[in-house]
Amino acid sequence: QQDVAPSTARPSSLRYKTEKRGIRYNIMLVGCSGLGRRTFINTLCEKEIIPPPTLEDPDMAHMVDPMKFNKYETQMNEDGTNIFLTTVDTPGFGDGIDNESCFTQLQEYIETQFDEVLLEESRIRRNAKYRDNRVHILLYFLTPTGHGLRELDIEIIKRLGHLVNIILIIGRADSFTTKEIASFKLSVMKDVVTYELPIYNFAWDEEADPESQEENQEIQAIVPFSVVGCDEVIDADFGSVRVRKYPWGTVEVDNDEMSDFGLLRYILLNSHISDFIDFTTNVLYEEYRTLKLNENKD
Ligand code: GDP
Repeated sequence: QQDVAPSTARPSSLRYKTEKRGIRYNIMLVGCSGLGRRTFINTLCEKEIIPPPTLEDPDMAHMVDPMKFNKYETQMNEDGTNIFLTTVDTPGFGDGIDNESCFTQLQEYIETQFDEVLLEESRIRRNAKYRDNRVHILLYFLTPTGHGLRELDIEIIKRLGHLVNIILIIGRADSFTTKEIASFKLSVMKDVVTYELPIYNFAWDEEADPESQEENQEIQAIVPFSVVGCDEVIDADFGSVRVRKYPWGTVEVDNDEMSDFGLLRYILLNSHISDFIDFTTNVLYEEYRTLKLNENKD
């Protein structure tokens, strides 16, 4: 893999305490078909996590498939720390006319993982093999309208933002000009403010040390992250480079000048893992737990 050039916005290295067995980490991918979810996760993990879709039966091509929850597991090593990553992909999201059922299914899936922890916590005898499947990150791939969020995006963020850390992604970023990306980012963030959407706020921890606070504010200013997925790996003088090749030139996936992929990769697999897991466990789950226990009292 190419050495990623240091960026001004790079936060400090892996903050999570290295555990002997490693970190269990769960990421969910949500977005309409064709926005680059599969290519993104395969590029992130540097291997084929999600295989290419099988060819459709032409007789069924007019049918809209229901949304699915496909789980993929992989292990990787980042700065000496083992990461056991589970990816939950949700093909079929937003492809139908009525999306209400997608919203409900996603909410139920995320809440079910919370309910399982709640149940496990209340057992007298704990299950040694119990596996925490709480979703730590939901990567939401925005449809490139060029002018902010759609009703579907707003609705899903409102429905899930109090249950999961939502990170907004602009996939296939090489299809935009630099100006278009900047303007799309601006209008998305305007909508986030206008509709008070609860996406993950990198600058949430006001008690963090000043250096981390500054780093997190720099990252927050980049949101939503524009990413490019790898198409092939080519040999360059300084090693192999992950690219997308076009007749007119080559887009380098890890080049910070060309997209936010390198930075996002570092945030997702290194610098912010502990923040995402801690926020899920100590804030989102705790709020859910309190609500649930109060409901059960009534
Ligand atoms: P998914 O349906 O969201 O999982 O999308 P895929 O990852 O399968 O990608 C859909 C199409 O977009 C495929 O033809 C990919 O080769 C292409 N694609 C994926 N990532 C990029 C990217 O970064 N730039 C461009 N231009 N195309 C991409």
